[in-house]
Amino acid sequence: MTVNADPQELAKFGELAHHWWDLEGDFRPLHQINPLRLDWIDSQARLAGKSVLDVGCGGGILSESMAARGADVLGIDLSVKPLRVAQLHALESGSAVRYREVAAEALAAEAPASFDVVTCMEMLEHVPDPASVVQACAALVKPGGWVFFSTLNRNAKAFVMAIIGAEHLLKLLPKGTHEYARFIRPSELARWCRDAALSADGFKGMAHNPLTGRYSFTDDTSVNYLLACRSGR
Ligand code: SAH
Repeated sequence: MTVNADPQELAKFGELAHHWWDLEGDFRPLHQINPLRLDWIDSQARLAGKSVLDVGCGGGILSESMAARGADVLGIDLSVKPLRVAQLHALESGSAVRYREVAAEALAAEAPASFDVVTCMEMLEHVPDPASVVQACAALVKPGGWVFFSTLNRNAKAFVMAIIGAEHLLKLLPKGTHEYARFIRPSELARWCRDAALSADGFKGMAHNPLTGRYSFTDDTSVNYLLACRSGR
């Protein structure tokens, strides 16, 4: 089976991995949005005591925070350095989170219907075949379980805000972090979810205020957005 991953994308995250937990560094936006998305996930899925899979976990910002809420968390990624950083950070912080280098598709074949909750945040827009990752997430979650996605919309505003604004003007993210052609329209994500027997339970937009530097939820899904789904199987 060919692996659904882009080696250049994985290398990009590998090169930046040592900055992952630097609150003022390249991954600052992930640190800033984390409390928002964590509360949003927790309010719906009630994380305490749940088994959770975090797909494309990177250095483990979301994974560790879900473990801190009492979930039994496995983080998976295909970039080795972020995983090492995640593991080291968990050792230092005493987090019980576990990490593995495995593709979502391979884990779905190995352990289908194993998790109460699957999260896949800021990852689909870095993958050659995102629909396949959505299928894998649907296969990994237990019947009735929750799947959460977040990604970037594809339109002129998203191009200006996420690439020109965030990478070039505000320098929130390193240049080349995102490739516009890989951005995903909510209608596309909704279709992939339907095809995977996941029922969409609500989109949410996330907006960045360049003046205050803060992120907040909004109904406007034109740039950053999240989707909560439930498994219909
Ligand atoms: N989900 C984390 C990290 C987002 S950064 C968070 O939101 O905090 C994107 C991550 O996706 C990187 O760690 C990168 O290595 C990972 N990634 C990219 N392609 C992948 C693939 N095909 N399979 C698994 N992980 C992948």
